Amino acid sequence: MNSWVQDAIARIAADFQRSADTHLIPLPLPTFARHGIDLYLKDESTHPTGSLKHRLARSLFLYALCNGWLHEGTTVVEASSGSTAVSEAYFARLLGLPFIAVMPRSTSAEKVAQIAFYGGRSHFVEHAGEVYAAAQQLADETGGHYMDQFTYAERATDWRGNNNITQSMFEQMAHERHPVPAWIVVGAGTGGTSATIGRYLRYQRHATQLCVADPEGSVFAAYHAQRDTSLTAPGSRIEGIGRPRVEPSFIPTLVERMEVVSNLESVAAMHALGGLLGRKVGPSTGTNFVAMLRLANEMRAQQTPGSVLSLLCDAGERYEHTYHDAAWVKAQFGDTTPARHHLATLLG
Ligand SMILES: *Cc1c(COP(=O)(O)O)cnc(C)c1O
Repeated sequence: MNSWVQDAIARIAADFQRSADTHLIPLPLPTFARHGIDLYLKDESTHPTGSLKHRLARSLFLYALCNGWLHEGTTVVEASSGSTAVSEAYFARLLGLPFIAVMPRSTSAEKVAQIAFYGGRSHFVEHAGEVYAAAQQLADETGGHYMDQFTYAERATDWRGNNNITQSMFEQMAHERHPVPAWIVVGAGTGGTSATIGRYLRYQRHATQLCVADPEGSVFAAYHAQRDTSLTAPGSRIEGIGRPRVEPSFIPTLVERMEVVSNLESVAAMHALGGLLGRKVGPSTGTNFVAMLRLANEMRAQQTPGSVLSLLCDAGERYEHTYHDAAWVKAQFGDTTPARHHLATLLG
C-alpha cells in the first residue's frame, strides 16, 4: 500500500481514538413512565462536526481509502443536503484533500459557513434532485472522486458491530428497566443509519422493531409500501431526511414500519422537545419525536411497557434563521397552532 494511504488511515484511526461516545438521554415524560414506557434519545449532536453524519463521513473516507479511490491531492466531491458535507469537509481537512460540496441552494447558511470553516467549497443547484449529476460532473472535471453517500452509506458502515451506533445504544441501555427497546425510530436521508440498525438488530436476534419516520414529500414511505424503485416525490422540507428519489442505501426489508410526519408536526415537536431538554434541536429530531410519541401512545393503549429509542440528529443552532424563526416557519409551512395542539394530545 502507498504510504500516503497508510498515513491517511492512521490519521482517521487516531482521530477516532481521541473521540468519545455520544450520550443516551432519557426523556423526562412522567405520563409515559407511569405506564412503564421510557423514551430515550442518543445525542448525535455532540460529535465534533455536530451531527450523526460524523459517523458516516468517517466510514465513507475509510471505505474509499481501502478501495484505493483516494490518493494524495484527490479532490473529494459530495452531493449533500448539508450535514454530510460538513462532516466530510472535516475529514478532507484532516487528510489535506480539497473538498467540494454540491447542495441545494436552500441549505442553511450555518452549514455552508461550517463547510467553509473546514476549508471546503460549496456548489449550489436549484433542486435537491440535481445534486447527483452535478457532483459527478464536478468530480469528472477535477479528476476527483464523487463520494456518493446515497449509494455507499449502507455498505461503508460496519453493521455487525465495531462500536456502531446500535451496539453503543444497547451497551448504554444495559442498566435500564427495559434494556432491549421495543422500537428504535430513525429518519432516512441516505437510509444508511436505518440499514445499519436494522441489520444489527437481526444479526443479534433482538426483538426490537425498526420504525422510519418519513417527512411529508419524501418518497421512502411510498417505496416501502410499493417496492417500486422508479417512484419519485416532490422532496422533503425537513433538512437531512426524506428524499425525492429512491436512494440505493435505503433497504426497505429492514424496516418494520414507516410513519409519515407532516412538516408542521415536525416543527411543533422540535420546539416541544427543545422545551423538555432545555436546548434547541434540529427539525429531523422533531420528526423522530412525533413517531416516538405515536408508538408510545400505542404501547400505552395496549398496556405494553417497554422502551423507545431514537436519535437527536443535530442541534438547533444550525437552524436559528429557519426552523427556529417563527416568521420563517409561518411563511414556509403556515400556522403551527393545530399541530401544537395535536402534539399536546400525543404528550398526554
Ligand atoms: C442524514 C441525516 C439523517 C438520516 O440519516 P441517514 O443515515 O442518512 O439516513 C437524519 N437527520 C439529519 C440531521 C441528517 O443529516
